[in-house]
Amino acid sequence: MIIIMRSRVPQEQIDTVIDRVKQLGFRPHVSAGEERTIIGVIGDERRLDESVFDLLEGVERVVRVLKPYKLASRDFHPEDTVIPVNGTSIGDQKVVVIGGPCSVESREQVFEAAEVIKANGGTIMRGGAFKPRTSPYSFRGLGEKGLALLAEVKNTFGLAIITEVMSPEQVPMVAGVADILQVGARNVQNFALLDAVGRSDRPVMLKRGMMSTIEELLMSAEYIMSNGNEQVILCERGIRTFETYTRNTLDVSAVPVLKELTHLPVFMDPSHASGKARYVNPLARASVAVGADGLLVEMHPHPEVALSDGAQSIAPDAYSQMISDLRLVAQAVGRSL
Ligand code: PEP
Ligand code: MN
Repeated sequence: MIIIMRSRVPQEQIDTVIDRVKQLGFRPHVSAGEERTIIGVIGDERRLDESVFDLLEGVERVVRVLKPYKLASRDFHPEDTVIPVNGTSIGDQKVVVIGGPCSVESREQVFEAAEVIKANGGTIMRGGAFKPRTSPYSFRGLGEKGLALLAEVKNTFGLAIITEVMSPEQVPMVAGVADILQVGARNVQNFALLDAVGRSDRPVMLKRGMMSTIEELLMSAEYIMSNGNEQVILCERGIRTFETYTRNTLDVSAVPVLKELTHLPVFMDPSHASGKARYVNPLARASVAVGADGLLVEMHPHPEVALSDGAQSIAPDAYSQMISDLRLVAQAVGRSL
């Protein structure tokens, strides 16, 4: 951390800052220029809140040097993290597409969906048993019955399962079936949940909140990792902007930014980003082009009767088309699918 003093401040103010740095257990490094003095704070600044210096008289600005997250940062861990799930490597050269319905609705529905995923070379299927809904009157998922259906899919088709967990108490039960625990956009700062999935041995897909900055997303990943679980996959799923023609705005720039800042795999979810099935394929192609490690896509065998997110769910034919389009894009950017 660097403390920049206002120009030509009296020596007492500089001394007060230096004393405060020492009191807090850090070492001051003073560089007195002609106009202004700059004080470097030596030690692990992550333990420090810049406001302790901001408030002192004569301080103009406090600048952090280290990122506030550590385990998630590429500075700390330069190589890409690769997470093995059901024989598939997430975060490696191959782009991983995870498809499946928004919610688990019935055995027929998830079995039909599983056939489509398998036929398109997929190894992991999505499907929510516990659904966070904006309205309490909307379909909130089949709960434990839904989990049991996902377990059947897993046993019958050999597909790995990703499904959402909404509270710390649910973690052991959901982890009993899920190969990847999904933490949804609305729970990105549910710190008790982040701690709980951090104590689990299952990989976690952490979705960016519709209102989260990239740094906040990484701080949430840090919560999970600091509990011992370093298998975190980040997922950009659209943020809320002033635009209304799409449900959210897919932040395409989040991918190169995240790939620079962190070693964790980065996914994109073009379904929740756009809210409309016809935009899913173009946004999926953009995601692969910009360097996403994978996609989370809502595919329903019969979108017109879906109990949640039908408008943004693509049908099986569109799913197959998307997969073949993505193969071309992946190849163009030196990857495969
Ligand atoms: C979902 O994946 O079905 C979901 C609820 O997504 P999000 O948390 O991104 O809204
Ligand atoms: Mn959904």
